[in-house]
Amino acid sequence: MSYEKNIRKCVPYTPGEQPQRKVIKLNTNECPYPPSPAVEKVLHEFDTEALRRYPDPVCAELVHSIAKYYGLTDDQVFVGVGSDDVLSMCFLTFFAGDKPVIFPDITYSFYDVWADVYRIPYEQIPLKKDFSLDPEDYIGRENGGIVIANPNAPTGVLESLDTIEKIVKANPDSIVIVDEAYIDFGGETAIPLISKYDNVIITRTMSKSRALAGLRVGYAFGDAKAIKYLNDVKFSVNSYTMNMPALTAGKAAIEDDGYFKDITSRVISTREWTKEQLRALGFTFRDSMTNFIFASSPAVLERDGSMKKVFEGLKEKDIFVRFFDKPILKDYLRISIGTDEEMQKFIETLKPMLP
Ligand code: PMP
Repeated sequence: MSYEKNIRKCVPYTPGEQPQRKVIKLNTNECPYPPSPAVEKVLHEFDTEALRRYPDPVCAELVHSIAKYYGLTDDQVFVGVGSDDVLSMCFLTFFAGDKPVIFPDITYSFYDVWADVYRIPYEQIPLKKDFSLDPEDYIGRENGGIVIANPNAPTGVLESLDTIEKIVKANPDSIVIVDEAYIDFGGETAIPLISKYDNVIITRTMSKSRALAGLRVGYAFGDAKAIKYLNDVKFSVNSYTMNMPALTAGKAAIEDDGYFKDITSRVISTREWTKEQLRALGFTFRDSMTNFIFASSPAVLERDGSMKKVFEGLKEKDIFVRFFDKPILKDYLRISIGTDEEMQKFIETLKPMLP
């Protein structure tokens, strides 16, 4: 086929399965609770007549609500179609140099996909054996940019603000993206760094802690100049990224702080219960500060060589968790935190599958 030499070839990211039947779904780190009643209200009252117009290209109201909530100015906030869109725009905007962009070898598996599709050179820095990150690995190393998920995925490991600051401070000539998709489940945010350094970008999502994965609302914070560069690229690709229902519902979600605090604290307490149960069953894991646990069973590994059989066994019983068939990762299951009832059912179903 003659056109093939002109194709932008890439190996796409594989998202977790979205089964169409009802299962216990612990495989994509979604929120087990519905969105805020305020979201339900605005969507219910949404005027469909308005859809014949284009949405606000600068997303002014949503940007303003987010800025106000976090104590930032509107020009320090960027919004997009989920944080995947925001991160993708960040890669396209900030990583246009020749030096390799660096990120850990075990992290969100979309980073290398974006780097490949945009033809950005990159280098993956091994994490320590305990899945923590050594900030020294990111100091004095030539790079064209840095990406750190904090807490990290799929490990669940949280790095301290001090570690993040060391990396940002040591790399004034690079943009450091801190992906805080899971920060609302117990971590310390890097937001205070925005006023101190012009080279840090923080990305966030409403998919996990605000139960809006289906609407696709993501955002980023940074120095006003960096956010301007990000908007220049966004407006060079697609002016109208976010649709009207997402803009309206996103605003309602960020403004309902009480509901947000309620559902995140429920997820956290269910997570702590699940940790105890998994420990009692002989599982090992690094302490998770996210809405998932990345856990391994030495006994299962001795019997099966990986966690794949348990993953498949759970799936047969309509319990979906995430399994990555790759070196090191195959020793683990990534289990999203569901409701109390779902986690009880998960533990009960898991027990007879263990040696
Ligand atoms: N960052 C990390 C670390 C994630 O795990 C995810 C969820 N897959 C995302 C970003 C993207 O989330 P979303 O596009 O739903 O905002």
